This record gives sequence, C-alpha cells and structure tokens, in this order.
Amino acid sequence: MATNKRRKKSKLDFKKVALLSVAVLAVVIAIVFAVSSTDNAPDYEYSPTENNQTNNVEDSKPSTEPSTDPTTEPSTDKTPTEAPSEPVTSAPVMKSFYDAVKYRSPDAVTADIFKHGRNLMLLNREYELPEDFKWDLVYWSNGKHVDAMYLNCEEHNAVKAVDKAAYQPLKDMFAAASEAGVPLNLVSAYRSIYLQDKLFTRSVNTYMKSGLSETAAINKANRERTFSGTSEHNTGLGFDILEKGNYTLTESFENTAQFKWLMENAENYGFILRYAKDKTDITGIMYEPWHFRYVGVEHAKKINQLDMCLEEYIDYLEA
Ligand SMILES: [Zn+2]
Repeated sequence: MATNKRRKKSKLDFKKVALLSVAVLAVVIAIVFAVSSTDNAPDYEYSPTENNQTNNVEDSKPSTEPSTDPTTEPSTDKTPTEAPSEPVTSAPVMKSFYDAVKYRSPDAVTADIFKHGRNLMLLNREYELPEDFKWDLVYWSNGKHVDAMYLNCEEHNAVKAVDKAAYQPLKDMFAAASEAGVPLNLVSAYRSIYLQDKLFTRSVNTYMKSGLSETAAINKANRERTFSGTSEHNTGLGFDILEKGNYTLTESFENTAQFKWLMENAENYGFILRYAKDKTDITGIMYEPWHFRYVGVEHAKKINQLDMCLEEYIDYLEA
C-alpha cells in the first residue's frame, strides 16, 4: 500500500516535472523568439525606387547609422579575438553562409572571380561570392559593427566593416579629403550576406503582397537590387561615400566639391567609381556617383586611363 502510494506520488511528480519542463521550454522559446525578432528589426529602410529603373540599384536607402567619419578616431583595429565573446544561444550553425539565404541568384556562378587577385574580384549579376569565401574585415574607426544583428551566425564572428586591404587607403583618402577642405562620410561599407538577403526578401514580400506571384516578385526585386552574394558590399571592398553629414544617396552628389575631389584623387588611393553613368549597360547597375570600389592604386589608375569599368578591365586583362 505504502509502496503504491509512493509510486503514485512519484508518478505524479514525474507528470508535474514534465509539465513544468514543457512550460519552461515554451517560455524560453517565446523569449528567444521575441529577442531574435527585435534583433532582426531592419536597420536599413528600403523602399522600391519610384522611377522604373531597369538596372539594379546596388545600394539600399541610406542607413541611420551614426557618423563613421575616420577623423573622429579612436582607431584601434579590433581583431576577431576582440569581437564579442558571448555566444548567442539561438545561433544557427551553418555549413555555408548561403544556408541562411532565402533567395539566391539562380544564374550567378563563382568561377574565377579571383583570377586577377583579390582586389580585382568581380561580383555582379554573373558572379557571386564563393561559398568558402573568407572575409578579412576590420572595424572602421568608430568600432561599430556595420550590421551586428547578423553576428550571431557562426561565419560572421569576425564581421567588421571594411576589407583589411582597403582600410588604410580609405583612411588616408578620408584624411586627405578633410585636409583639402572636402570632408567625406562613409555611409556604407561591408554588408553581410544575411542583410543583403533580408533586403531582397523584403522587396519580394512587398511585391507578393501587392498581388504578384512569388516568381514575378523575385524577378521584379531582381531588377531593383542584387541577390545576396552578388553585391560588392558583401566583400568589404565596395563603399558608399558622400560629403560629411550627408547620408542620402542621390545623384546630386555628383555636383558636390567632394565628388569632384574624388574623381580627381580617388585613384591615388586605389579607388574607382564603380558604376559610371556611361557604363550602366555593362555593369547592369544604375549610375551611382557615391559607390567607390577598392582595386589598388595601380589598377585604379590604369582603369581610369583606359576609361573602362571593372568588367571591361577584366576582359582587357584576359585579352
Ligand atoms: Zn554601394
């Protein structure tokens, strides 16, 4: 009798414990979900362009990030070991950074993008970042993660803001511009695969809500922005630069003293205007007077001398 009672009691306890565990688990899941929802709140607002651009818009609308002006240095390059060490419990462990990408380009290939060295890696509609790509990024001077919300993904523990090769030249260029009386503003540099996909997915969702099929929505989104892994911002070698204090990416930047200075001097630091007005049919990207690409001094000078865009220059090197 006593044994039975005890058994009953322990059975009851087991049930209680089980119920309690389920409740606790539910609460934990709810918290994790709530936290990750907040984490994923977009920090880049994107609204589809109003004009009917047939070319891609490489860049998102300006972010609301604080100034990343390198002249306000506390610049100590943070190495990956100094990156936040607290693991995020909801972090997915992935084999490839594309595992977390919802919409990947069906056409792009990874063949030979490094054929002419890392500084000349070519990313566009045809070529995407290879799955085994290793970023070599450092913090820009304010030490801020560009899109820290994606840092919880394993491959991105070292995510900073700027490719290491371009970091010093970029700093030097900004310092020289300030000295010349045309201070610059780094609006956007490295953008993670995840953020790029997030932006793309948001466009697709917007078009699906307006009644398009998913396929039609993807096609439309693809005309306005780039698939993840095909944006230069995914490499850390592409930079959106405006005059100090300005975060609005518009064509009117071409009328500024800063733009004039960049057109005359950027090559001396290894940067080229990547999406020129007269090359849109080759680049597949609309004219972007603010988007500069690091290729190294020698190539930058040669590219300008030949009046070529990067696609043409790669062909030229291979001819
Ligand atoms: Zn850009």
